Amino acid sequence: MSPQNLSEHIRAVRARMTRAAVQAGRSAQSVTLLAVSKAQPAPMVRAAASCGLGDFGESYLQEALEKLAALRDLPLTWHFVGRLQSNKTGPVAESFAWVHAVDRLKLAERLAAQRPAQAAPLNLCLQVNLAGESSKGGVTPAELPALAAAVASLPRIRLRGLMCIPPEEADPERQRAWFRQLRQLFVALNEGGARLDTLSMGMSGDFEAAILEGATLVRIGTALFGPRPARSANRTGDTGSKDTG
Ligand SMILES: *Cc1c(COP(=O)(O)O)cnc(C)c1O
Repeated sequence: MSPQNLSEHIRAVRARMTRAAVQAGRSAQSVTLLAVSKAQPAPMVRAAASCGLGDFGESYLQEALEKLAALRDLPLTWHFVGRLQSNKTGPVAESFAWVHAVDRLKLAERLAAQRPAQAAPLNLCLQVNLAGESSKGGVTPAELPALAAAVASLPRIRLRGLMCIPPEEADPERQRAWFRQLRQLFVALNEGGARLDTLSMGMSGDFEAAILEGATLVRIGTALFGPRPARSANRTGDTGSKDTG
């Protein structure tokens, strides 16, 4: 993709986000654009940063660590959005600001133990598996309150909110219903005393529906960067999110 195309895509996505936010009676600033740069090379991220993007999401640990090193000179906020194995938490706890797909206590405990003491608290979102899809990670809605309470009490961690990757629905109303369900879980936790401020929901195909239902952060890859290049087959040590490819 040319730099010209990239800046046009960013502008178009922002315009669509603003339109959805206004339609929902919210300000454009109430929704963060997280650019999911997995499978995109470091120079592409650098170009996106020069267009004003500051939050980037990665799913594949080895690839991400190489990119973070190559872009160390930029003041970027890095989010790990992929599925995380519990034996790979160390580098994530050390190098990222956010982890979006936490779905079990053991993972959060390891991240808390491995977060460097001098770093800011690690921001976490709990992934909820709304439709009970076995191909995707996430805690069940029934198990969510206990997990949220346990994670919130960990040191060096800040529980910020909830995240979901719902099934794709052809009908926009049905798409919105999944996001509404996550927002209702979020509201219920806050009514129970949690202090969550982040609803991480919406990707390239459904971010407007998510914003209409209260998303505060949308995770967008393809609509910004175009189709992802195929990942090279020799990254055998690099297991990441299988959720969305
Ligand atoms: C890849 C990915 C995205 C971005 O998906 P697009 O459809 O390319 O926008 C968002 N969230 C997660 C967790 C992902 O793995």
